[in-house]
Amino acid sequence: MTIPTEINQQATDLRHLLNKYNNLYYVTDNPEVTDSEYDRLFIQLQKLEADYPELLTVDSPTQRVGGKALDKFSQITHSLPMLSLDNVFDGEELHAFDQRVRDWLNTTNIQTYAAEPKLDGLAISIRYEHGILVQAATRGDGTIGEDVTENVRTIQSVPLKLSGDNVPEVVEIRGEIVMPKAGFETLNKQQIADNKKPFVNPRNAAAGSLRQLDSKITARRPLAMYCYGVGEIQGMDLPKTHYETMQQLAQWGCQISTELLQVEGVDGCLAYINKLGEQRDSLSYDIDGVVLKIDDITLQQRLGFVSRAPRWAIAYKFPAQQEMTIVDDIEIQVGRTGALTPVARLQPVFVGGVTVSNATLHNQDEIDRKDVRVGDTVIVRRAGDVIPEVVQVVLAKRPDNTVKFTIPTQCPICQSDVERLEGEAVARCSGGLFCPAQRKEAIKHFASRKAMDVDGLGDKLVEILVDEGLINDAADLFKLTIEQLSSLDRMGEKSATNLIASLETAKQTKFARFLYSLGIREVGEATARSLASHFLTLEALEMADEPALIEIEDVGPIVAHHVVTFFQQTHNREVIKRLLDAGINWPAEQKRISDSELSGKTIVLTGTLEQLSRSEAKEKLLALGAKVAGSVSKNTDYVVAGRDAGSKLNKAESLNITVVDETTLINWLN
Ligand code: NAD
Repeated sequence: MTIPTEINQQATDLRHLLNKYNNLYYVTDNPEVTDSEYDRLFIQLQKLEADYPELLTVDSPTQRVGGKALDKFSQITHSLPMLSLDNVFDGEELHAFDQRVRDWLNTTNIQTYAAEPKLDGLAISIRYEHGILVQAATRGDGTIGEDVTENVRTIQSVPLKLSGDNVPEVVEIRGEIVMPKAGFETLNKQQIADNKKPFVNPRNAAAGSLRQLDSKITARRPLAMYCYGVGEIQGMDLPKTHYETMQQLAQWGCQISTELLQVEGVDGCLAYINKLGEQRDSLSYDIDGVVLKIDDITLQQRLGFVSRAPRWAIAYKFPAQQEMTIVDDIEIQVGRTGALTPVARLQPVFVGGVTVSNATLHNQDEIDRKDVRVGDTVIVRRAGDVIPEVVQVVLAKRPDNTVKFTIPTQCPICQSDVERLEGEAVARCSGGLFCPAQRKEAIKHFASRKAMDVDGLGDKLVEILVDEGLINDAADLFKLTIEQLSSLDRMGEKSATNLIASLETAKQTKFARFLYSLGIREVGEATARSLASHFLTLEALEMADEPALIEIEDVGPIVAHHVVTFFQQTHNREVIKRLLDAGINWPAEQKRISDSELSGKTIVLTGTLEQLSRSEAKEKLLALGAKVAGSVSKNTDYVVAGRDAGSKLNKAESLNITVVDETTLINWLN
């Protein structure tokens, strides 16, 4: 049969592409596309070769295992080839596999399968002679692998010596080297901290960590090995089933999967697959499916293998947790606290069991590191309940004329300045009092107990008032009417009246409270107090620049910056003006002594104190670092004179020592 030119071309292209991806994946540990994309192309080529058998070449990727061993390692020829596995993706394909097996065996008997997780790592073959580990090799192209003996020796779960008194002369134990999820997370955090490229997934990290020329690097990586088979064996007969063989390996001290089970027929396999699928996310390592093996070794031998895979085993692949898609747009979301988060709008893609169309890009650092741009093809990962993330850009698929993405300098919601402080990852909108995105939180904070303390205005009610469009910012609270409030669900006239009264009461406040209620970033109660007592008036504070602010005890450059930026925002100033116009006021602030001014000072208490006992006053002064003395001398800094003060007061006056009254003392202590 002549093969149509376009089919020929299609097959050539697919082979070329698969070979390229194989090389990137196996040889350089740097895959460019997802496994699912690779699998799709692989199946396409398999179908073409099935339809046009003349197309088939021995070097087709469908006929070969893995990739070439890297020259930088010494090479090891496997005594028995290390094969791959054929895949199925659903129950129907699994039934077809089971049918094929029974046809080959010429039986209608239900088969017993050994079922185990398909670990997502890289295959390894470890040779023990008289129980001693002598050699370890990667799979390579299935015939020749790389000598990674020294590296494998560093892996804790690999026994250097088999235990038990029945170790054979030679046994080649095969299994998968994986990087457990927890270790992977830690390693990637470290990679990012060291300004190195993070690994795209645990498999990649495991492969990259094992295939190092310096075994000290491997030793530092959190690798583990799980055994799932035996290659060459000399000097002993192994048990007659796969399941029992695995128990023997466990007795020798090798780690096997705790999930290994014997199941009956396809139904047993499917029940196992469903159960493991549910447990997938809670396992400590990544799996990409289930491997089902005819349990009876004699039957395995009768079935044998085809070019690249045994006939007696099959991999049931789980839905992919990484897929490729295109970034249609990058949008900025402004959170309730003003944090700006870039979000990639993706062409919908089915990954990790759900359709994903958005993925957070976290912050500018993350965008810079991954260099995600609108129009890019990206790899999206969604594993378990973890929110989908863009793992990397497929640079080979980047269209021309893309531009680097930068978070805007103006808030997309309220146009206030966006600030990002040095050393901080998050960019934030500085229009806290005004920005609609931050509205609810700002008003809740404003009304809270330690701020303006509006009795009867809880978080829920703030949400309702905003949702009903009755208020847009804190100043609107003071325009609310009893009619408006009592028309709300579950709000009677009495509560409405009470709330209006509380708002009225709240108007008489203190400067520090008012400052705190504005919700300026990093300005907590204590800082608000320091600002109030230092600047005394709002006008003075509004005019203060960063150097003036930094002069204040416990105001550092970051707080200073936040304060200045806050008052620079026209919208914030407008809301403040409306608040003052609504009648908010406070008694004039008096210059107070700061904690540090008291610290180290010698103070004498005399006369009767009205508002607190002498011992209370002493305790509080001591807590602020002051010394409290019993008699007045030239070393005394202050004398606190209460009612009926006598000789000590006279002495203080004669020595020209500052005398203060009890109110001042209370101010200090507050
Ligand atoms: P495979 O990973 O699909 O299956 C065979 C391998 O499974 C074995 O060699 C073994 O290492 C492993 N395995 C895990 N648990 C096992 C168990 N319990 N029993 C037996 N074996 C177990 O096949 P492969 O040939 O290693 O790789 C092909 C796959 O690799 C593709 O399907 C694709 O997913 C991926 N791949 C991806 C790219 C890419 O660019 N993203 C390129 C090449 C290959």
